Amino acid sequence: MSVRIISTGGTIASTDTTGGDAAPELSAERLVAAIPELGEIADITTDDFSNVPSPHLTIDDFYELTQTIQTFEADSESDGVVVTIGTDILEEAAYFVDLCYDGSMPVVFTGAMRNPSLPSPDGPANLLASARTAMSDPAAEAGVLVTFNDRVYAAREVTKMHSMNVDTFQAPEFGPLAVIDETQVRWRHRHIVTEPTLTPKEDALTNDIHAVTVTADMPSAQIRGATDSNGLCLAATGAGHIPPTIIPVLESLRDDGIPLIATTRCPEGRLARETYGFKGSEATLQELGFYYSDLNLQKTRIKTIVALAADELDVAFDRPTK
Ligand code: ASP
Repeated sequence: MSVRIISTGGTIASTDTTGGDAAPELSAERLVAAIPELGEIADITTDDFSNVPSPHLTIDDFYELTQTIQTFEADSESDGVVVTIGTDILEEAAYFVDLCYDGSMPVVFTGAMRNPSLPSPDGPANLLASARTAMSDPAAEAGVLVTFNDRVYAAREVTKMHSMNVDTFQAPEFGPLAVIDETQVRWRHRHIVTEPTLTPKEDALTNDIHAVTVTADMPSAQIRGATDSNGLCLAATGAGHIPPTIIPVLESLRDDGIPLIATTRCPEGRLARETYGFKGSEATLQELGFYYSDLNLQKTRIKTIVALAADELDVAFDRPTK
């Protein structure tokens, strides 16, 4: 069995050479060399995709990463892939790949919160647990996974919850699919949400999708920023509610043909469809032609980008009408 480790950078690949100046610089081979136990799980091969902090990664990089993984799937030389990446945008990259990757070779994303120069760096344990996950049979059926702090999550559900704690990744409401006990991956849940695999056209991918969180008495200018953009993703309050003052700007975006996609800004739950009817309620969102997303705002934006580039917005999102 063979696992390919694709390194992109992030804290897991960082060293602190000048004191307080951690930055990605370790190669995939260096990461692997620090964990002799990996050799007991599979033959390990490495690939240095990039060596950057994750906020430097672009939508084009996500696409290229997906293509790289797809190539490994096609050549049948790897039985699983582990992507090491910075934790900051890990969930967006993993979900992008999840939406586009078409294959049964397991793909697992991981990273670290403590760089190798700190006491108790978590990268080696996360990488080892990820390789175990990739070699565990149910992983082939589970879509793209994130293994972190000995827990395994569906890329679709996982989010970074804490800015510094090693126990940062969680799947609010739905929890982990599996946990790692010593050398065993203990699966307890099946990820049953099936989404269509999307095939974005590379030249149609754009980062020009705005993402805005609704806040109390927010200025309309924040929404107006999406004028002339390719789309607006809006995290509404509660079950899908907005201040009435921003409705006129949303109407003009809709009239200009700009796709509008809504989700809730609450970490758990989804948008209501038929509970409230006040001005600015979910009824207003539906009158405005909003698509409904059940993902957090950052993943809603990723799905919008991919779906638009695949010309599949109507397939990707539900659009309840009033
Ligand atoms: N703090 C980040 C990390 O965990 C930096 C990054 O995302 O690259 O890797």
